[in-house]
Amino acid sequence: MPCFICETCGTQYVESEDPPVACGICTDERQYVGWQGQRWTTQDRLAARHTLRIGDDAGLLGIAVQPDFGIGQRALLVPTASGNLLWECVSLVTDEAVAALQARGGVQIMAISHPHFYASMLAWSEALGNVPILLHEADRAWVRRPSPRIEFWRGASRRLSDSLTLLHCPGHFDGSTALHWREGVRGLGALLPGDALQVAGDRRHVSFMYSYPNAIPLAPSAVRRLRAVLADTQFDDVYGFSWGRNIIGAGRAAVDKSFERYLAAVTG
Ligand SMILES: [Zn+2]
Ligand SMILES: [Zn+2]
Repeated sequence: MPCFICETCGTQYVESEDPPVACGICTDERQYVGWQGQRWTTQDRLAARHTLRIGDDAGLLGIAVQPDFGIGQRALLVPTASGNLLWECVSLVTDEAVAALQARGGVQIMAISHPHFYASMLAWSEALGNVPILLHEADRAWVRRPSPRIEFWRGASRRLSDSLTLLHCPGHFDGSTALHWREGVRGLGALLPGDALQVAGDRRHVSFMYSYPNAIPLAPSAVRRLRAVLADTQFDDVYGFSWGRNIIGAGRAAVDKSFERYLAAVTG
């Protein structure tokens, strides 16, 4: 039986004879149903129209579907002395991408910032050797293809190693998560926030939204909470959700300035 994939958000669903009636991710007020109506695809059909871009994004191996599919995110391989983590996920899995990851030491663990990027996470886990997937407990209800390989973590943070820590950054989603990498590519620390903090088009600021496509701002109380969550976290680079959308250098100052700018804008 196929695992249908929503054409609009890229989420892969549990095996079924017929496509699901609706996509719960897209009918949520943070997303939207495609303007042509709800459409579904599968891995095979996706592979006939799309490939994966595999290459360097600011010093990390990035993987993204091309032409763009779903939300347009890219996954990143984060290499550390205690193992490699695959951050975020995409809808298409290819042998070439799996080989590229294996050539760099493989993937020991996967983690994803929030439900918009769950994509084909189980297909990726299987292709990489049944790698565990870490998701925040607060987003458990959004999983559309459950598995014992998904491990839900709770609380404010989850330390994975000396280098890597998951930080609970609720706002856009209740379980939104950022990855903090103590070293980063340049030795000065990196923050990978998904879109809990969205790297802006100028790549000198971040911003905050409850819904990006439907333009619903994040409440000031939630933004102040994010500021507190990140207050003691050191980083110089911020990797945004899509290819090249990164702040390389002075990322901590950019985030601090952006908290002030956003709060001034929405509180008058
Ligand atoms: Zn969808
Ligand atoms: Zn999102």
